[in-house]
Amino acid sequence: MVVTHLPKLHTHFFISTPPPSLYTHHLSLLRIPKSTLTTAATAATSSTTHPPPISTPDTHIQIPLQNLFVPPETDISATSTPLTARILKGSNIVLSKYANDAQVVQAEFVKSSVRTEDCPSDGLPEFALVGRSNVGKSSLLNSLVRRKRLALTSKKPGKTQCINHFRINDSWYLVDLPGYGYAAAPQELRTDWNKFTKDYFQSRSTLVSVFLLVDASIPAKKIDLEYASWLGENQIPMTLIFTKCDKRKKKKNGGKRPEENVEDFQGLIRDFFQTAPPWIMTSSVSNQGRDEILLHMAQLRNYWLKH
Ligand code: GDP
Repeated sequence: MVVTHLPKLHTHFFISTPPPSLYTHHLSLLRIPKSTLTTAATAATSSTTHPPPISTPDTHIQIPLQNLFVPPETDISATSTPLTARILKGSNIVLSKYANDAQVVQAEFVKSSVRTEDCPSDGLPEFALVGRSNVGKSSLLNSLVRRKRLALTSKKPGKTQCINHFRINDSWYLVDLPGYGYAAAPQELRTDWNKFTKDYFQSRSTLVSVFLLVDASIPAKKIDLEYASWLGENQIPMTLIFTKCDKRKKKKNGGKRPEENVEDFQGLIRDFFQTAPPWIMTSSVSNQGRDEILLHMAQLRNYWLKH
């Protein structure tokens, strides 16, 4: 399969991982993140008019070094700052020199498109949000732009099956794609949505990365695993956004903690990716992960613009 926009990003984000030699002399496991981890994200993106995110739970996830997402042109062996201080809180993402201009100061709905060809043609970089219905996509979108009801625009009748573009700071787009896996939708419609979004993924040259939302409060769903593995197999850049990380099931009721679901999901999709995809734990209730997502988007976007 030919992906027309591969050269812009994939060759860098999927193939140019740090050379194996960088790993050999490191610890095999890195404990993430406890409160020792960076608060750079908060400092870099919080404006004085908004309160910083509410304190987030520790994730207690052990990330093997090879499962870190290391952006290109980033040397994890540089010793001036400890590696743990350069990893975004609640994620496997190392910060690069491109992580700046992360704040959202302006957001506006631009248009709904029914075909990829109808999407804005101004060449600005974009990030697509996609996930199962009810995963928390609208809540996340509203939280990213700090507007309570902006995402309602794409929930209006006639727009739920569209590609909805929101322009941020007049310089990049957040794109709300139709939710999938909605059981009540007729089968033909569900198949159509698939075809429609897959076409967008494969032909949209300004797509920097897909942000696939996965509910971390429940065990992995087959449809999410299929979606993630399809993106991996087709080498579409993907960041996993684990939602609802504030929901903590009681162990005694057989429920797993979000951290366990996050780890399980990684394991189940590993074989479909050349290198570990970036992931971030989030909650729209506590705003956990909000600043981290924006910093990650900034570093992907700034790198994309430079190359
Ligand atoms: P969408 O269908 O993917 O756009 O999902 P919504 O954003 O409409 O959210 C679906 C439901 O999940 C709503 O009842 C939200 O209040 C709830 N929800 C969304 N995000 C979170 C979250 O981070 N934590 C919790 N506990 N609930 C959430």
